[in-house]
Amino acid sequence: MSKGRKTVGVIGAGIIGTAVANCLQRDGHDVFLLDPNEPGRCASFGNAGVFGTSSVVPMSMPSTIYHVPEWLIDPLGPLAVRWSYLPFIAGWLIRYLAAGRRDRVENQARALKDMLGRAVDNLAPLVEAAAASGVFHRKGSLFVYRLREAYEKDRAAWDLRARNGVRWRELDSGALREFEPALSSNAAYGLLVETNGHTSNPHALVSRLADHFAKSGGAIHRAAATGFVTASGRLRAIRTTVGELTADVAVIAAGAYSQPLAAELGDRLPLETERGYHIMIKYPEVSLKVPVSDQQGKFVATSMETGLRLAGTVELAGLKAPPNWQRSRILLRQARTLFPQLRESYPEERLSLWMGHRPSFPDSLPIIDRSKYSPDVFYAFGHGHVGMASSGMTGLVIADLVAGREPRIDLKPFRAKRFA
Ligand SMILES: Cc1cc2nc3c(=O)[nH]c(=O)nc-3n(C[C@H](O)[C@H](O)[C@H](O)COP(=O)(O)OP(=O)(O)OC[C@H]3O[C@@H](n4cnc5c(N)ncnc54)[C@H](O)[C@@H]3O)c2cc1C
Repeated sequence: MSKGRKTVGVIGAGIIGTAVANCLQRDGHDVFLLDPNEPGRCASFGNAGVFGTSSVVPMSMPSTIYHVPEWLIDPLGPLAVRWSYLPFIAGWLIRYLAAGRRDRVENQARALKDMLGRAVDNLAPLVEAAAASGVFHRKGSLFVYRLREAYEKDRAAWDLRARNGVRWRELDSGALREFEPALSSNAAYGLLVETNGHTSNPHALVSRLADHFAKSGGAIHRAAATGFVTASGRLRAIRTTVGELTADVAVIAAGAYSQPLAAELGDRLPLETERGYHIMIKYPEVSLKVPVSDQQGKFVATSMETGLRLAGTVELAGLKAPPNWQRSRILLRQARTLFPQLRESYPEERLSLWMGHRPSFPDSLPIIDRSKYSPDVFYAFGHGHVGMASSGMTGLVIADLVAGREPRIDLKPFRAKRFA
């Protein structure tokens, strides 16, 4: 495609930036990646690794508003707000609760279906080209309830999934333990979504995508983008900590750190960080066939190359506050009730704790759009809880937009102006 060949700078080398860079490179563009850190060190490092074709349920649902008081009181509950941060996040929280209106939830779920329905298939060609198939698995994922009644209470979410084409296999407690013998007899009911996939090493996956991109001629600069050089609205260069880098097109994919770059272009967007935690156990007593999502404890257990990872929880406390490691440790306490072979405590050398910043908009959808100011700067950030799963489709649609092709999914729900 030499006629439409462009020089494209992709800002951020997480899962989104590396997927976008690979897709643009496949289209024949000259692409460079910019990141002050090694690829895949931020949110894309420590997540649960699930490619959820079934993750069409937005975070804010009609019932969410009733849980807010208990969240505010319990600092170790599945969603916590630090009191000192409340004044900064109040506006976002109001939008978040408003996004839980029934009609909005239906629209968000439809958009998520477009984004995630082919999550595993979209990523597979990039994974194969990057020789990363060893950490990419297409075996499904399991959702577990300790009580059948808890599943019944969660019925609205499963009905929403069904309306959006998600299919599953139901497992009673016997079938559940036959499928996953590590589960305790507390687990009463399970749903296996066979179209889901996972990675057993999110960091290795991103690193290999970045390595493949570099081996195929892409440049990776260890630098932060600080702004844009434009003339009459057209992009001339990206300003960085190592000087100006000439580019025809820029893609902002800097996850939770994207807001100041969009603000430079006049777009004030309600991007927040939903901080999440993990605890990892080395040489664990439990090895799981597929990721197990505890629907009541609100965490995901995934067997990774480096141990058993228990990941989840949401904490609203901004980008700067120090981590509250109690939130990691509580995940072990919860996991023990589902996997009784796990110990009550471990020597510190067998544990590792992590906190990462999910980049989140209040309506659980990313922004995939052109900036208002320049047609040459694209936004690809705000993927919240589903960045790993959304990466393939995000790469494909950004490549469509840069090439001037009709995007393969309807991008209206992902536009920036929904927050105008
Ligand atoms: C506990 C937890 C569990 C999760 N589980 C899952 C899951 O199972 N499945 C799923 O799909 N998603 C999951 N997620 C969400 C997922 O991890 C994120 O949505 C995804 O990693 C976001 O990717 P990203 O590339 O946008 O951001 P990041 O991975 O944060 O990457 C952004 C990059 O931009 C760089 N950057 C920042 N500022 C600049 C700048 N000025 N210039 C250049 N570069 C810059 C950063 O250094 C970073 O490398 C989970 C998240 C958490 C916290």
